[in-house]
Order: sequence, then structure tokens, then C-alpha cells
Amino acid sequence: MNKFEELHSLKDKMEDDASLPLRTGEKLVFGHGNTEAKILLVGEGPGRMESIQGLPFVGPAGKLLDKLLLLAGLERKKVFVTNVVHHRPPENRDPEPSEIEAYGKYLDKIIEIIDPKVIITLGRFSMAKFLPNVFISGVHGKKYNVVWKEKEIVVIPMYHPAASLRNGNVLELEKTDFVNLRQILPEILKKKDDKVRSDQIKLV
Ligand code: URA
Repeated sequence: MNKFEELHSLKDKMEDDASLPLRTGEKLVFGHGNTEAKILLVGEGPGRMESIQGLPFVGPAGKLLDKLLLLAGLERKKVFVTNVVHHRPPENRDPEPSEIEAYGKYLDKIIEIIDPKVIITLGRFSMAKFLPNVFISGVHGKKYNVVWKEKEIVVIPMYHPAASLRNGNVLELEKTDFVNLRQILPEILKKKDDKVRSDQIKLV
């Protein structure tokens, strides 16, 4: 199976999983984008618009995300986007730890299948998965080498676009962080390619 087929079969499995705690009538928002992407974005959870359409980041926060991606020289069709929970929490409340854990096995599988070089976390819940015990105010926009399930991934924590919609100061910080990505992403992706090449040479 290729990545596209693997993701589809995982999505089918999630649709059938009656144990998922937030599924009460809400549409599954599995994730969307380029299945061959090197960059994975992980948000928090679907809002009202996402739950209606079954797609991540299609409401006001998603419109802002599209503009931020352009600042970084990216667009949706180049990345894959998903969330820490894949059904909408009631009244858009924060997801609870037990809910994050219940959906976590599927998020892990999505990461495993996409096999990204870079994960951009949007907001504190996805950040905490890779960078526990830090504050977003101290780490936003910086790159961290994380060993995740024995693989090296660069994690870049970003403010959640919804936080930027609420607070103009956060928006300015987030815009700067995405502008900086335009320079740091190609460097990271090139370094990773060089490493693969030198590993191949060692194998010969
Ligand atoms: N906020 C998120 O964290 N994810 C979405 O998909 C939409 C809004």
C-alpha cells in the first residue's frame, strides 16, 4: 500500500472506532493535504466549520493559517494538516488529557505513515506531545530536534492561529515566526537530504 492508501485505511478504521470519546454525532476530521509532504502541521481539534466539512482548518483560523503559510513560502497542497483530536470537542472546549490519549494512537500512526521531516505544532496541545514542560511564549518559532519513536524529526512550535485572531500582539509574533520559516525550512530539508545521501554512501 502507498501512503495515500494507508491513510485511507486508517481513516476507515477511525470511522468504525466506537471507543473514540468525542465522536457523538460529530464528523471525523482525519486530516488533509499532500500525503507525500515533508512537513506535517498538527493543530488542536476541529471547530464548527471543520466538523461540518470534515476537513481541518477551514474556518476563520484556517483562513489565517493559509495566509501564514504563504509568508513561509508554503501552501496547503505542499503540507499535510491534522489535529491532536479528530472530532470536535463540545462547545469548542480544550481537549482533555484522556481524549488526547484516545486519539493519540491514530495521530501516531498518521505521523508514522506521512514520515515527515518537520512537524509544525499549532498551539500548546500539539506542542506538548513533542516538547513537554515548555511554555509556548519561550519556544515559539524555534526548531527542536526531537527523537520520536527512534526517528529524528525537527519540531517547530507555533502559536495557534486562533490565539492570533484573539490577540494582535500574538499575531505579530506569529507572522514573524512564519516569515522566518521561509529561511529555516529549506536549510532543515537540505540538511536532511544531505544526511540521507551520506548514509547511502556509507552503505556502499
Ligand atoms: N483549530 C484547530 O486546532 N484545528 C482545526 O482543524 C481547526 C481549528
